[in-house]
Amino acid sequence: MNIGENIRNVRERIARAALTAGRNPEDVLLVGASKMNGADACRAAIAAGIDALGENRVQEMTAKLAEHAYDGAPLHFIGHLQRNKVRQVVGRAALIQSAGSLELLAEIQRQAEKLNIVQEVLLEVNIGGEESKSGFSPHELYPAAETVRTFSHVRVRGLMTIPPIAEKPHGNLPYFEKVAQLYVDINRNLYDNDFKYLSMGMSDDFEDAIAAGATMVRVGSAIFGHRLYSQQ
Ligand SMILES: *Cc1c(COP(=O)(O)O)cnc(C)c1O
Repeated sequence: MNIGENIRNVRERIARAALTAGRNPEDVLLVGASKMNGADACRAAIAAGIDALGENRVQEMTAKLAEHAYDGAPLHFIGHLQRNKVRQVVGRAALIQSAGSLELLAEIQRQAEKLNIVQEVLLEVNIGGEESKSGFSPHELYPAAETVRTFSHVRVRGLMTIPPIAEKPHGNLPYFEKVAQLYVDINRNLYDNDFKYLSMGMSDDFEDAIAAGATMVRVGSAIFGHRLYSQQ
């Protein structure tokens, strides 16, 4: 497993997808989804020029922070976040990508205010309407974005989505296109075109996400190899 080589391969695929879509490859940031990979793997990815690392679990993130696993790259939180763990993430993650409810955003605001910082977040969209996933439904999203705009210590930088597991190749493209449309509308109508990040696409589908307009892809197994869940 050569993490540096994998990152170069993923970057080439990103570049090809961007150019095919008539976009600049530099407008797509690569976030390494490093869950279940140790501090050494994180460091290797940073040495190979990853744009950011994304973690899913607060406990794992906290342990790896203590090992200085992320020194040299921005840390993002990309997993399901419980309200009682917000305190451990605010101010540590440069970007919380998985802000999927107003209750959670209110708690992020509260904790950020205590630290006297502005926490950057993405609003998570549950585009497939799946019960098992968190995130705003498309019709909840617009009013939520309007509410959060008034929060003093939270800055919304864009949207994030995790579509359903695709049943056929390119199966997620319509979902990516829908979220991209929401991104453009909310950015223009509520945020003075100040959004920066449309985070969508993983190892199996990031090319389609880029075709739809993603400016940030979250890639795990194509960089770090398959995760050995059985060892957990
Ligand atoms: C694990 C994970 C990814 C990356 O998934 P791969 O299929 O391994 O690329 C992306 N986003 C989130 C939120 C994840 O949990």
